[in-house]
Amino acid sequence: MYSIYQDGSDAGRFAAQIYRGLREGDLGAEPVVELACLMEEADLGCPPVREILERPAAELTSQEVARLGRDLLRATGFDQLWATLETAVKVVEGDVRAAGIDVVLGITFPNWDDSGCARVGCCGGYGSPAIWPSSGRDAGAALVEIADAVQDVVIEHIWGVWPICPEHRLGLHAAFVEGTAVWQCAGAGTHTAAAIGDLGLSSRQRHFCRSK
Ligand SMILES: [Zn+2]
Repeated sequence: MYSIYQDGSDAGRFAAQIYRGLREGDLGAEPVVELACLMEEADLGCPPVREILERPAAELTSQEVARLGRDLLRATGFDQLWATLETAVKVVEGDVRAAGIDVVLGITFPNWDDSGCARVGCCGGYGSPAIWPSSGRDAGAALVEIADAVQDVVIEHIWGVWPICPEHRLGLHAAFVEGTAVWQCAGAGTHTAAAIGDLGLSSRQRHFCRSK
């Protein structure tokens, strides 16, 4: 279903333009028509694709363009990819707040980048490394990638290390271990400090959750 969104693909670029246009209320017909053409070529034709290809673009009202743009994002699975990334941002935000750092995190396609990759940011600045929407294919892998990006923006925001291992006072790193997205510490041999999203739990609660 997500095959059309390979990293760096034209489809991803047009989907990003559609998403941004919908959010800002100024979606033009061009990226909608382009994405519909790519879907047709990839044998992903469906009623909205046919409607777009059969009607002259100049005839479409801005409401119709918006409706068709939303239909294409849904039909290609972009909606689910994006929802997975947004959920991951919320989970990691919980970890940031657990450290007493008051930030509002988000993920977006910044205006200055037309490549189709998203960035995580806090407090209005979106400066994280690039996140391809296709990262949302796997919730666990997405969580690790988002945690890594959030770590980047938070460190820049507070000019300090985050997150920190409660035992060793060393910086943690996001990793995927035995099917779980975790924060790992390099102290005393590598160990897992907590599952990503669980940093706010006390060590007793973490132990309890693990042993369940
Ligand atoms: Zn440690």
